[in-house]
Amino acid sequence: MHPTVPAAEGTRSVTATDGPHHVLVLNSGSSSVKYQLLDMRGGARLASGLVERIGERTSRLVHTPLATGSPARERVAPIADHAAALTAVAGELAADGWGLDSPELAAIGHRVVHGGQHFTEPTVIDEAVLAEIERLIPLAPLHNPANLTGIRTARELRPDLPQVAVFDTAFHTTMPEAAARYAIDAATADAHRIRRYGFHGTSHAYVSRRTAELLGKDPSEVNVIVLHLGNGASASAVRGGVCVETSMGLTPLEGLVMGTRSGDVDPAVVFHLKRVAGLDTDEVDALLNKRSGLVGLCGDNDMREIRRRIDGGDAAARLAFDVYVHRLKKYVGAYYAVLGRVDAVAFTAGVGENAAPVRAAALDGLAGLGLVVDEELNAVRGGGPRLISPAHGRVAVAVVPTDEELEIATQTYALVRG
Ligand code: AMP
Repeated sequence: MHPTVPAAEGTRSVTATDGPHHVLVLNSGSSSVKYQLLDMRGGARLASGLVERIGERTSRLVHTPLATGSPARERVAPIADHAAALTAVAGELAADGWGLDSPELAAIGHRVVHGGQHFTEPTVIDEAVLAEIERLIPLAPLHNPANLTGIRTARELRPDLPQVAVFDTAFHTTMPEAAARYAIDAATADAHRIRRYGFHGTSHAYVSRRTAELLGKDPSEVNVIVLHLGNGASASAVRGGVCVETSMGLTPLEGLVMGTRSGDVDPAVVFHLKRVAGLDTDEVDALLNKRSGLVGLCGDNDMREIRRRIDGGDAAARLAFDVYVHRLKKYVGAYYAVLGRVDAVAFTAGVGENAAPVRAAALDGLAGLGLVVDEELNAVRGGGPRLISPAHGRVAVAVVPTDEELEIATQTYALVRG
């Protein structure tokens, strides 16, 4: 018998049934697999873990059996490929009594980064879906192949089990054409599927819905600006539960300043880097994706370290912080204009949930727009969704922890239960 596990908040009224009610969420990266096993009779987490450095001699698996409260188990040993990684994960889950052959397992939900225009919703995976995800590889050359490998391996291990793809782009497919199109030659754009897709959609969907709950309203009644500030960062404008604008574009490079990515630059910077600085295309790609953003400006991408350096009087760290916050504020203003009426601004992800100085600075001077941050409430650490605006504030400002795994599991379970 497994102990009773407490229900997590944030699940959409999923009620108990006699059928299988566990969902395994898999997030397969190029050299890693992250996973969580959730009980959908309330959304409690039964186990979570991570396999990293797949294909290297120092592969590492960390498995945490959350339901039993037993300590995490760690193994450092070569894991050759994703198939071996998933087999090892299945072994760890089986040791807890929840192997992939468990009758309680209802489905596996896979995070898939790029669903293009085709996938507007979570989708049960079959051969045609796999072929379409493969067709989208040119739009996400690093992510979709890894996601596909994870899916194929999981299907080999449990061919009879429903497997669902939940796309990072899906929530943004409601963006109007005016927001989704780049103003470039239309025939070229269409031929190469060049448009704004947006990413982090699972997080934006979850956080906008949780923000409405925090306000005691139905998502259809509220307009929310969601600021997902992690190592990757994106903003979205959500009108009545529907995404109308987001800051990432064809790839996750556009928009806000991020840990290592530049966000918006004049595209002519690319020509200049090639013609004048002599970089080739891959070098420009690496520069903008890996050596830019906070790390490019000051050498650190962790906001905690940047704050420490600022406290010690470091000018480069100060500038990096200021560039980051300036961009963020521009997006808040722009999305305010896009929405016309804003009910809430919600901060989420590693920086958004933890870095009070970023939240304060991003909305500083916006009282005229009804945006005020209460200093004391903003300084409170941890906890669940909470308001950090004063009671008299016209627009709610909230900190809403994101939970992409719970959202993937919830969407997966809703789909397979019909
Ligand atoms: P994520 O991608 O959502 O996991 O966010 C990771 C980032 O969150 C890190 O690179 C840090 O910059 C930031 N972060 C995490 N914890 C804190 C904290 N306590 N204070 C400030 N920033 C934090």
